[in-house]
Amino acid sequence: MAYHVVDHPLVAHKLTLLRNKNTGTKDFRVLVGELASILAYEASRGFKLEITEVQTPFQKTKGASLTGKKVGIVAILRAGLAMVGGALHQFPNAKVGHFGLCRDEKTLKPTQYYARYLDNLDIRNLLIVDPMLATGGTATRAIDLLKERGAQNIKLLNIIACKQGVENLMKAHSDVEGFACAVDPVLNDNGYILPGLGDAGDRIFGTV
Ligand code: URA
Repeated sequence: MAYHVVDHPLVAHKLTLLRNKNTGTKDFRVLVGELASILAYEASRGFKLEITEVQTPFQKTKGASLTGKKVGIVAILRAGLAMVGGALHQFPNAKVGHFGLCRDEKTLKPTQYYARYLDNLDIRNLLIVDPMLATGGTATRAIDLLKERGAQNIKLLNIIACKQGVENLMKAHSDVEGFACAVDPVLNDNGYILPGLGDAGDRIFGTV
């Protein structure tokens, strides 16, 4: 699979507003939702369709329906919460699971502190939502945990990814398809993406 950057004028415009340090909490949250909706749309490009027939008010015509795998959204706490509404906008019937992962002080590895899994993980199209893909450690761990429970069709939606994170993720899970609005070049010493947009969770929730 591959990691894709969504190349679209709307995405570039909204992402620029999001990066702007003067964009306030309310607008930031709205923009994250809007971009998540676009990412979910892009991620579903390969979903399977069944040819159907539909009766319009005038006549019958050929139609198409999404078939097969149900969609599941998995939000990585806490910043991923802001992407759930946008993804649900495209897939209103999707179920939503949650993962809380934090860095273990000793091992420095992402450790799960909270999880609510979806049923039938093996037969779902899963969309993991997390605004920032920094080192890729959290996403990789989340995907490990989902695969341990049978998940097979996983897509990762990020607002911004870092090059290193994409490389790490693809090394660990080459079958996963990723989507972002931009891939930025580097991380700073504190693990923030540069140029990035700052701390996504703090900007979404107005915390410091
Ligand atoms: N998480 C964030 O919120 N921002 C970054 O730049 C990296 C990780």
